[in-house]
Amino acid sequence: LVVLEGVNKHFGSLHVLRDINLTISRGEVLVVIGPSGGGKSTLCRTINRLETIDGGTITFDGQPLPAEGKALARLRSEVGMVFQSFNLFAHKTILENVTLGPVKVRGVDRARAEQRGMELLERVGIASQAAKYPAQLSGGQQQRVAIARALAMDPKMILFDEPTSALDPEMVQEVLDVMIELARDGMTMMVVTHEMGFARRAANRVVFMAEGQVVEENTPDEFFTNPRTERAQDFLSKIL
Ligand code: ATP
Ligand code: MG
Repeated sequence: LVVLEGVNKHFGSLHVLRDINLTISRGEVLVVIGPSGGGKSTLCRTINRLETIDGGTITFDGQPLPAEGKALARLRSEVGMVFQSFNLFAHKTILENVTLGPVKVRGVDRARAEQRGMELLERVGIASQAAKYPAQLSGGQQQRVAIARALAMDPKMILFDEPTSALDPEMVQEVLDVMIELARDGMTMMVVTHEMGFARRAANRVVFMAEGQVVEENTPDEFFTNPRTERAQDFLSKIL
């Protein structure tokens, strides 16, 4: 579904992505881990073109990423993104948060969008909160709304950038459970996370990134029990 070849990215003189080669297949769950500043968020953001690249190529669904216009808007709707800070619209209700994209971007009729929105809120376990505003929900609930909002656009893939890092510990699992369900349903996902339990349970592949490079790419089993590189061994010894 996504192919990155020789991708490079600089911020001024800082070389943040160095020759990244990566393929994400349909239905695959890729977990990206690595030290802070290693380029994980930047990598995510290049895939829906929130960041441009200055070397290499990225294709999505066989096509080079569009630079602008309608094609770019379509890409953004096909590649959902869930951030660490939930980024919900504060002055819209939970249901409106979920229906706004389909109505405004996709031109879906409001009644249909609301029906589907309620189904999605049901799926993430918050249908009863539909009329509330984001500030009235817990962090875990807000993040589940953010996932429902991404799903409402019928994305081909969802990027998660540390979706549970801002949550109180007791709310982490409820969000991971929704993500594990999504993975089981065959959603293509790239997940930046430090939740190793999630990586072990849901990932097809783990990518370890440091200093802008993919240092190691492996199955979760192999990666956690038998990391090949010293860099990964060192990282794992600090977090496990
Ligand atoms: P973390 O685990 O802390 O989220 P990360 O692996 O996601 O880190 P990135 O956010 O991708 O890392 O950042 C990679 C490098 O690029 C860092 O050194 C960061 O300071 C720098 N960087 C990120 N975004 C920008 C930007 N918009 N302008 C300049 N530098 C940036
Ligand atoms: Mg980051």
